[in-house]
Amino acid sequence: AREIHLASRPTGWPVPEDFRLVEVPVPPLEPGQVLVRNQVMSVDPYMRGRMDDVKSYMPPFQLDAPLDGAAVGEVIASESPDRGVGDIVVHNFGWRDLAVLPARRTRVVDVSVAPAEAHLGPLGGPGLTAYVGLVEIAPMKPGETVFVSGAAGAVGSLAGQIARLRGAGRVVGSAGSPAKVAYARELGFDAAFDYHDGPIRDRLREAAPEGIDVYFDNVGGEHLEAAIGALHVHGRVALCGAIAQYNATEPTPAPRNLVLAVGKQLTLRGFIVTSYGHLAPAFQAEMAQWLRTGAIRYDTTYVDGLAEAPSAFLGMLRGANVGKMLVRL
Ligand code: NDP
Repeated sequence: AREIHLASRPTGWPVPEDFRLVEVPVPPLEPGQVLVRNQVMSVDPYMRGRMDDVKSYMPPFQLDAPLDGAAVGEVIASESPDRGVGDIVVHNFGWRDLAVLPARRTRVVDVSVAPAEAHLGPLGGPGLTAYVGLVEIAPMKPGETVFVSGAAGAVGSLAGQIARLRGAGRVVGSAGSPAKVAYARELGFDAAFDYHDGPIRDRLREAAPEGIDVYFDNVGGEHLEAAIGALHVHGRVALCGAIAQYNATEPTPAPRNLVLAVGKQLTLRGFIVTSYGHLAPAFQAEMAQWLRTGAIRYDTTYVDGLAEAPSAFLGMLRGANVGKMLVRL
């Protein structure tokens, strides 16, 4: 089998040399285990945090050991009565072509609604994150104006569409290129801007001249500062991520206007999607319906080959993806 190891801990932006492709023998299966041939694996922003040796909500990756993360694949051998050869499963033993793992750490996926890999996108973590952020963390009311950063990415593209389906009055987004801005408009965002086009505060004011009620924050930094400035009284922020600072070696100054949160009586609330697994069944049923009826669109950027997984990850951090970045093995 082949797997990708963390060869060194990145300082600032990761580089290809921080990763190593390693050949390993496949151990014999123990009782309760399955052997899965991975077909598609996910690369996600949170993995960057796990490359640092710091205490966080997830343990750091170990050096000279395989990385892990969400993947889908086919069971090709089973020592468990609960899984049979041919089952298509989702699990967390990505970054390798063959995975040996306990059957109880796999979930069989329904491929009647969408291909299995949708469980790495709209029906999986990114979809649930978008949903939890808008429904639980920064609850949006019909008619309100919602601003979503990272609007062309996995979570942001879904958050904008869910906001629209739940009756937002206006949905605005930001992304990193003119093509991504056009893509967000195709998805139904009422307005979108490229955050490279001058002060974000000014671009946001043009996109949402009346201000905003909810901000779904994927980016942090200057985006968050601009949103705090634009929020109405009793506005809400779902602090989902801060990708603008994941590779920073210095603390970032923004938001410098946090004091406005007092007078505007804002709620800024962080969350980690894995704490909301109990909402997954209801969410998946609703999302499956949206996918069936075509109410929600999702797109994927593919990179091919396990050896290319590090470049898929590095590319995603720099914005090479439209929709979800996935690696086909
Ligand atoms: P995306 O598919 O959105 O990919 C990451 C994107 O981030 C890139 O495509 C790039 O798009 C954008 N980006 C990179 N650098 C910057 C920057 N300096 N400023 C603005 N945008 C930047 O990833 P996900 O949808 O998987 O994740 C989006 C966010 O959600 C991340 O912050 C992630 O950590 C967070 N997240 C949080 C979860 C939680 O439980 N709280 C769960 C899942 C994700 P562009 O070209 O537009 O710059």
